[in-house]
Amino acid sequence: MLMQIIFSLRVPPPGKGALYIRPLLIGSGAILGVAPAPEYTFLIYASPVGDYHKASSGLNLRVDHKSHRAHSGGTGGVKSCTNYSPVVKSLVEAKSSGFSDVLFLDAATGRNIEEASACNIFIVKGNIVSTPPTSGTILPGITRKSISELASDIGYQVQERDVSVEELLEAEEVFCTGTAMVVKAVETVTFHDKKIKYRTGEEALSTKLHLMLTNIQMGIVEDKKSWMVEINGCDE
Ligand SMILES: *Cc1c(COP(=O)(O)O)cnc(C)c1O
Repeated sequence: MLMQIIFSLRVPPPGKGALYIRPLLIGSGAILGVAPAPEYTFLIYASPVGDYHKASSGLNLRVDHKSHRAHSGGTGGVKSCTNYSPVVKSLVEAKSSGFSDVLFLDAATGRNIEEASACNIFIVKGNIVSTPPTSGTILPGITRKSISELASDIGYQVQERDVSVEELLEAEEVFCTGTAMVVKAVETVTFHDKKIKYRTGEEALSTKLHLMLTNIQMGIVEDKKSWMVEINGCDE
C-alpha cells in the first residue's frame, strides 16, 4: 500500500513543469587565503519548476556592446558561479528597461555573438542553423548539443562557427537553449538603436525543436539516441 502511494507521487505532477536538478560543488573548508579549499561540499538541489516555455512569449534580448561575460583563457566554458557576477549589472539594467536578457559579444573583437547570461544562442537563415563555437568563452550546453543534433536530423545544416552581429540582425529566426527553458524563441534583438523582430510561434523552427526534445524527455516518442536515463528509486 505504502509503495503504491510512493509510486504515484510525482514531483511535480505530470504535465505541470519539471523537476529541476542542480548539482553544486562549493569550497567549504576553513581558509582565508587564495588557494584551493581544503574541503568541498557537494549539494544537489531538486526543485519543481513551472513550464518555462509556456510562461511567456519570446525573449527580448539587448546586445551588450560594453561589458563582456568571458575572456579567452578564463572560466567562460565552465558552469561556474564566477561567470554570473560579470553579467549581473548589465542584466539588471536590461531588465529594468523591459528586456528579458542580455546577449554578450566576444571580448576579443566585439564583433561576434557569444551567448546570453545563462543560455546558448542559435540563428536560422534558410536551411542553415548557426551557433557560436565552444572555444572556451561560452558554456557548451547540453541542450545546445541536443538541439543541434535534432535540427540536423530534420535536414537543417548546422554550423558551429563565429556568428557576427550583422548576421544576427539579418537572421530570419533566433532562439536560445538551456535546460530550464529547453528552447525559447527570441522575439526581438536590440543593438544600439536598432530593434529587429524575428519569426516566432507555430511557423518557427524553435517551436518544432522544442516539441521534438520535450517529446523525447517525456517518453511521448521513442528515444532513439539513448539520451534518457532510467533512475531506479523506491522500487529497489
Ligand atoms: C547553463 C548555461 C547554459 C545552458 O546549458 P545547458 O547545459 O543547456 O543547461 C548556457 N550558457 C550559460 C552561461 C549557462 O550558465
